[in-house]
This record gives sequence, structure tokens and C-alpha cells, in this order.
Amino acid sequence: MHEAAIAKSILEIVGERLQSLGAHTNAQSVEVLFGEFRNVDPESVSFAFDSMRALFSGCSDCRLSINTVTAAAHCKDNHHQYRPQAENAYRCPTCGSGIGKLLQGEELDVVNVVIEIERPDKEKKQHARVGR
Ligand SMILES: [Zn+2]
Repeated sequence: MHEAAIAKSILEIVGERLQSLGAHTNAQSVEVLFGEFRNVDPESVSFAFDSMRALFSGCSDCRLSINTVTAAAHCKDNHHQYRPQAENAYRCPTCGSGIGKLLQGEELDVVNVVIEIERPDKEKKQHARVGR
């Protein structure tokens, strides 16, 4: 259910962007960043997103694009930059000290929403909207 909640909040953010632009807008795509430390399964989020998007006005054709951000940290003792991994108990491979500062890997961001402004000649789509 974690993934479903994430998909829902992405759709809510897209919905807010659409609303701020007024009527006759559809979202074409939304791009998100997931840090690997968030432990989010992109496939589950995509599945949940696709099954829910029709419930959100203007989102029925919206595609979700997920980019995963690899974790990076500076170690505590020597400020080496490395990729913390569970296999090494998140320790620095060079000197063995722990994480001093996490530089990236905790992202959970909507970075871009592509919105289509409908032209008045697109009758079909407008009717579909009224029917909702
Ligand atoms: Zn180190």
C-alpha cells in the first residue's frame, strides 16, 4: 500500500498543477525522482499510478516516468565520497567509517509535469470531460 499512496500523491500534485492553470488542460506526463534509500518499487508505483489515473481529472492519459537516484554519501572520518550499500553496512569502502553526510538517495520528488492545453477545436475531448 506504500506504493499506492505514493502514486496517489503524485496524481494529487499533478491535479493541483492542472487546476492552477484552469480548464481545458490535460497532463501528458509526469516525471518523478526516487532516491534508492526510499525503498520504493518503481514497478508497483507505475502499476498503481496506471490503475488510479483515470479517477483524477485531466490525468487519464498521463504517463509516469520514474528516475531512480543512486545514493551517495561522505564518510564520517575522511569525507570520502562513496555509494552506501546495505552489504557493507553502509560503511565507506576506503576507510570503513560510517555515513557522515548523505548527499543524495532520499529523494521523492515530482520534478516535471508536462501539460497539454486543449484547443477549442478538440470537441471530442471536451465532451469526454463534461461526461465525467
Ligand atoms: Zn572513508
